Amino acid sequence: MTDLPPPSKKKLGLVIDLDTCVGCHACAVACKEWNAGGIAGPLTDERPYGKDPTGVWFNRVHSYEVAATDFERPAFDPGGDAATARETGSVGACGGGNSLATAAAQPAMTLHFPRSCLHCEQPACVTVCPTGASYKRAEDGIVLVDEDKCIGCKLCSWACPYGAREYSQVEGVMKKCTLCVDRIYNQNLDEAEREPACVQACPTRARHFGDLGDPDSKVSQLVAARGGVDLMPQLGYQPVNQYLPPRPRRAGASPPQATAPEPLDTAALPPVLRWLDRVLTR
Ligand code: SF4
Ligand code: SF4
Ligand code: SF4
Repeated sequence: MTDLPPPSKKKLGLVIDLDTCVGCHACAVACKEWNAGGIAGPLTDERPYGKDPTGVWFNRVHSYEVAATDFERPAFDPGGDAATARETGSVGACGGGNSLATAAAQPAMTLHFPRSCLHCEQPACVTVCPTGASYKRAEDGIVLVDEDKCIGCKLCSWACPYGAREYSQVEGVMKKCTLCVDRIYNQNLDEAEREPACVQACPTRARHFGDLGDPDSKVSQLVAARGGVDLMPQLGYQPVNQYLPPRPRRAGASPPQATAPEPLDTAALPPVLRWLDRVLTR
């Protein structure tokens, strides 16, 4: 079994805004593109053109139809008893008992939920690992897999309640989000590009990257301002990544009241319009 390092001061992670995510999958595709060529090694596709395509994706996006709610029920409570969401995406999403939106009257809405490793502070995926292949970095809290030590036993994926581990059938090893560790410290990239590929790709800027251990960082301030939440805090994994709940949606505007048409004084119209009025009213 593998020990965890003492809690690091620096806690790198993602903040994902469920209010502005449009479910375009650009983050998932950019992640795959970058990591298939990066230090994490190939992210294989199995049966890519077959009936049941599968493969390794560090980042998956699930879409839900959330039913209209009244004041009694939470608007979005994925996996909770009061869940009203129905998933329309591909793979089962993380469950959770924490409300991601306040209890309030809401019209029906579509909600997109990107899912990847949350780089937990207390990751059982690491402590169950028999070979030390799974580990948490002491300097910045990133959770990684050393594929040379992985024996493919899959204990870590059983221990992860967020479904964030991705087993490669082709290579026989476990993989997961690296927080693009080979980008964020890469001196060969411009400083503006030293952030995860998913963050760079997001067209709606729904993804943010930074140090969530620093209360003055932009990401920490964003979480404080928007009431960011952990996924399933009751499990004690203490995820570093945070989700910003969707803002309350407005119900559609009521139809405009019909107003009585004003009578037309044809005598006051210019000659051409008087002639047109006569022609059209024959
Ligand atoms: Fe481990 Fe899962 Fe937490 Fe990632 S989300 S650190 S894989 S327990
Ligand atoms: Fe993929 Fe990097 Fe984003 Fe993780 S941080 S989901 S590895 S692009
Ligand atoms: Fe959502 Fe941004 Fe990912 Fe598109 S790229 S699915 S908007 S997080």
